[in-house]
Amino acid sequence: MKQILIFTAGFGEGHNTAARNIRDALEVVAGNEVKVQIIDLFDRCYGRLNEFLRRAYIAAINRTPRVWGKIYNVIDGTQFVETNMPMLTRFKRAMADLLRQFEPDAVISTYPLYGYVIDQVLPAGEPRTFTQITVVTDSITVNSIWYRCASDHFIVANDDTAAVLRAGGITDDRIHIFGFPVTHRFAEMVDHRFTSQDVGPKRVLYLINSGKKEAPSLVRRLSKRDDIRLTVTVGRDTALRRAIEAEVRVPGHRVEILGWTTKMPELLTSHHLVITKAGGATIQEAIAARTPVLISQVVPGQEEGNARLIVENDCGQLAPDPDSIVEALDDAFTRGGALLERWTQNVSKLSRPAASLQIARFILSLEVTEPNRKVLVPKIESARSTRKKSPSILLCDLHTHSVYSDGKLTVPELVDFYGQRGFDVLCVTDHICDYTKLIGRVTNLSGLVLTLDLVPEYFDILEKEKKRALDKYRMILMAGLEFNKDGLTKRSSAHLLAVDLKGPIDPGLSITRTIAEIHSQGALAIASHPHEFKTHWGKNTLYFWEHIDQYAPLLDAWEVANRDDIFNPIGLKRLPFVANSDFHKPKHIFSWKTVLFCEKDPEAIKQCIRVNRNVAITLYRDHRLGIGFSDLEPDSEKESEEAIVTFPGYSRKSA
Ligand code: ZN
Ligand code: ZN
Repeated sequence: MKQILIFTAGFGEGHNTAARNIRDALEVVAGNEVKVQIIDLFDRCYGRLNEFLRRAYIAAINRTPRVWGKIYNVIDGTQFVETNMPMLTRFKRAMADLLRQFEPDAVISTYPLYGYVIDQVLPAGEPRTFTQITVVTDSITVNSIWYRCASDHFIVANDDTAAVLRAGGITDDRIHIFGFPVTHRFAEMVDHRFTSQDVGPKRVLYLINSGKKEAPSLVRRLSKRDDIRLTVTVGRDTALRRAIEAEVRVPGHRVEILGWTTKMPELLTSHHLVITKAGGATIQEAIAARTPVLISQVVPGQEEGNARLIVENDCGQLAPDPDSIVEALDDAFTRGGALLERWTQNVSKLSRPAASLQIARFILSLEVTEPNRKVLVPKIESARSTRKKSPSILLCDLHTHSVYSDGKLTVPELVDFYGQRGFDVLCVTDHICDYTKLIGRVTNLSGLVLTLDLVPEYFDILEKEKKRALDKYRMILMAGLEFNKDGLTKRSSAHLLAVDLKGPIDPGLSITRTIAEIHSQGALAIASHPHEFKTHWGKNTLYFWEHIDQYAPLLDAWEVANRDDIFNPIGLKRLPFVANSDFHKPKHIFSWKTVLFCEKDPEAIKQCIRVNRNVAITLYRDHRLGIGFSDLEPDSEKESEEAIVTFPGYSRKSA
């Protein structure tokens, strides 16, 4: 099954429309053979800030279009994006995570910035494991950020746009003129469209998406004409609808008023002419429907190209105010509608109603470069990793528990314990339970897991100890958590390690969301003891293993060994691996550990594990202390006392 990612953004109208239409067409053509995800990374990364910017953008193009035009030119003409990209660290990280998690066969961008970000994230010269396709949704005035990236293919709507890319240095073999990806429904509709030869009044569609103040009186003027049958759309604007209804409450003046509609293909093909602003998607839909256009507004910058496409190809004209709209209609319909006929013929030449189906077939025809796709290794620059250090052998334990959950040592004691033994990396991963589940709520009462009120303190103390660990022992201390996602059976139970967290994560999230949150912090998501324990009695957590196809792409690594157990199936499946003590008390130091060969730097360490190259496991023995050393003696407590009872039927020495 092919995995396809489509990146889009809510700035301007054409991008989301194009993304949705390509997805729908892919699903029509390939059915279950393809899995398509549409992602708005701006929304994911910046959430409310993004919504604010989107509104500001809409306000800017409506109130101060000239200013916006200038901004657009600045972005186009200078190195604006390059110089501002370092600010987008979060964005790049999210991109890197997505590419790694989904291992897509093809990545499609319908918004210009993404190709550029992918270039930033992936090492130069490294062969990519996916095909990168840029769908240019603008026409003629194409901002150069669209093609200043290493995209394999550029899909454009028309010859004029292709010419712009060619002039920008893109070779012909990478440019494909398929038309704008309008919904595939146009492909079935256009053959049944109205023609200009139809007798009776001409049908005019007025999409009121600009000049709303003058719209009601214009509707009244048009509704009086016998040569026109008018349909207007008012979107979700109820005030506008009322204003128009008030104007046309005259008997005999039939105007059809529509609200927000998904029936654009049907509407456009059942009208002889459309009045609209020069928005990318609408202009392209009109072209697909072979419907001439009167353009009521043009946002300087990116909409200029759409307007020029109509005017320069003689498919309609500019009519920026009510008087010029009325005049243009007069011209179009007089002399037997000769002008309307000419416009219709010209717009038909540009029309490519099956564009999205063609694009889908093209994408599906692209070969995946390697049948055995290797894990993508995104490059994330950080201030730290730019400092060059030489690699060394690092002894690591990424799974330990303190008194914040069911461990015996405090965090400072853990630091000293591991520091004195020459460890290079220690991650403390206290248990945290899903309070949304009954088992989690019961466990929370046990006092053996980190409770929500102590989470801030837990992160605080780890932050303080990080410095001490480094100064005193040259040991890297990381904050982590072990998410206990326990169900009633071993098959429905999972323990998920987060390694090198920057802050808390809500333990009530779903597993997939939790992994996404872990990744958004740049941390590792690792499956704890994912297979059957042999050496000690305890509840197994097999959920990840049972759903390996679903989680293998999402998890950074799996414990191939946990304390005394080795999980052969994890090794046989060639999953990225680590080995940990699952340390709860001093004697657990005698156990399997991870050895890395990389720079002693948190980012390098995590990357080494993700890539899973130069990773080994070792069975740790602490000979220098000798047997019988007091802190390593098995506890004198009875087994029954150290058993952790987390919920009825679940009892083991340690989790
Ligand atoms: Zn554990
Ligand atoms: Zn566990």
